[in-house]
Amino acid sequence: MKYELTCINCPMGCRITADYDGHEVTNIQGFTCARGKAYAQTEITDPTRMVTALAGVEGTHVPLSVKTQSPIRKPLIFDALKVIRETTVQPPVHIGDVIIENICGSGVNVIATENID
Ligand code: SF4
Repeated sequence: MKYELTCINCPMGCRITADYDGHEVTNIQGFTCARGKAYAQTEITDPTRMVTALAGVEGTHVPLSVKTQSPIRKPLIFDALKVIRETTVQPPVHIGDVIIENICGSGVNVIATENID
């Protein structure tokens, strides 16, 4: 199967093409740097994404902005968003505080991206 991707690792947005036979990614072309080649391999075989969402804050209707510390596997995203939406934190919260450890068994923590006193 032939894949056409746009690398999202930097603003250059290189157009990458590759072949995938269900086991191996071959004939990767169009990348400008090693990050693009690695991106194509991951995107085709086991895509991942950063997740940003809003968690609840006890005592207020103003939500807390959070994100995963690193990308998680795409099939986990729906469940991760559900867990985050159902989470309520107790202030104070500071940028970088871990809000949820190892979300959905991904090995990745969810952290706060804003301060709430
Ligand atoms: S391949 Fe490299 S230069 Fe091209 S968009 Fe990806 S990170 Fe940027």
